[in-house]
Amino acid sequence: MKIIGSSNARVGLPLGMAVLRKGGSALDAVELAIRAVESNPLDHTVGLGGLPNLLGTVELDASIMDGTTRAAGAIGGVHRFEHPISIARRVMQELPHAFLVGEGAERFARECGFEEVDLLTEEALEMYARGLRQGGVEAPFADAVLRALVGRLATQPDRVSGKEAGKDAGTVNVLALDQHGNLAAGVSTSGFAWKYPGRVGDSAVIGAGNYCDSRYGAAACTGRGEMAIRASTAHTVVTHLRSGAGPQESGRRAMSDLSDFADPYFSSMNCVVLAPDGNHAAFSTLETATYVYMDSQSKDVQEEPRTHVPWLAGA
Ligand code: ASP
Repeated sequence: MKIIGSSNARVGLPLGMAVLRKGGSALDAVELAIRAVESNPLDHTVGLGGLPNLLGTVELDASIMDGTTRAAGAIGGVHRFEHPISIARRVMQELPHAFLVGEGAERFARECGFEEVDLLTEEALEMYARGLRQGGVEAPFADAVLRALVGRLATQPDRVSGKEAGKDAGTVNVLALDQHGNLAAGVSTSGFAWKYPGRVGDSAVIGAGNYCDSRYGAAACTGRGEMAIRASTAHTVVTHLRSGAGPQESGRRAMSDLSDFADPYFSSMNCVVLAPDGNHAAFSTLETATYVYMDSQSKDVQEEPRTHVPWLAGA
């Protein structure tokens, strides 16, 4: 049994591990752990308290994958629901689809009985206002200027000032291995702060930010989602695992695929990897990033440094 995640998953891992210890499934562990992060108003990158899009609306992406059936569910661009990970799971289990976006995803969430809430906390609103001011913008502004703004604000160094420097807290990743050998992977995020409305990132894209196969392993990403989309990073990690490389080598190879991608909006790229034997690894383009994990013996959440894989195009 094992559960690993991005460092901001710390609040949820003990809940996920409790599920695994009771003989519960990797999928249940992943969902429960991520729900705790989604409800944490102090985390400005996921669910309640997440930083909004350019128009000031919190817009969420999430995905979940069952490594044994390789079924997946994802939602993108969803407003007003605190637990996108649970909506994604219902998509996977109840619809003949894998991915819903926007109004359709919200309609489905209401049909499933999920409650609508206001996700924009006062603190996140203040950060948004500050972000706009730093970009020299006063809201409300005309739609015509959105295109110009999205690039300008993305280059503001302080655009996600809620992040602890050097941490990978841009999204939550959780990967779990249950006692029956099933792997599951989940990802949830409010995405790129001040993003263009309707922008969907890697967290909702199976193969980019999330991939899981109980035979070979699981991987999930945080950071610059556009890069993970361009390189299908999570799937690439699992393909390397499938070819016989271990978690360290597989993650390193997938991350090095990105290292020469030019990207004026680059922030960081990070991934976590879990193999079917419980071995794990994590990577970051940041030098001081960490990840967290627990196994069946752990009393507390363990935190370890990630392997640093430099982004050469930015050097
Ligand atoms: N990967 C997320 C996205 O691109 C954001 C992040 O992790 O910083 O939406």
